[in-house]
Amino acid sequence: MIAIYCRSKHGSVKELCSSCALLRQYALQRLERCPFGEEKPACAACTVHCYKSDMRMKIKEVMRFAGPRMLFLYPVDAIRHLYREHRRNRNYTAKIKTNQDR
Ligand SMILES: [Zn+2]
Repeated sequence: MIAIYCRSKHGSVKELCSSCALLRQYALQRLERCPFGEEKPACAACTVHCYKSDMRMKIKEVMRFAGPRMLFLYPVDAIRHLYREHRRNRNYTAKIKTNQDR
């Protein structure tokens, strides 16, 4: 997604520009350290605000920009992604419910 954003916003061709490369690195790093790991819900639903606010702003902008384009450029990937997120969120909520029932 960052690649889409960078290509249309910063005119990069093959590689990300330095600031987008930095953002990508940061995002991957955050993902690694996220306490929810693979079980994590979508970041929008994440209770831990793991992004520093300036980076969060940037990521948000990237998502807002690239999201609809993703759907258009790679509809299969985008739908698969949405589906996975949806399932992940459902599993996550279900898990919380089971925990609360106990
Ligand atoms: Zn860029």
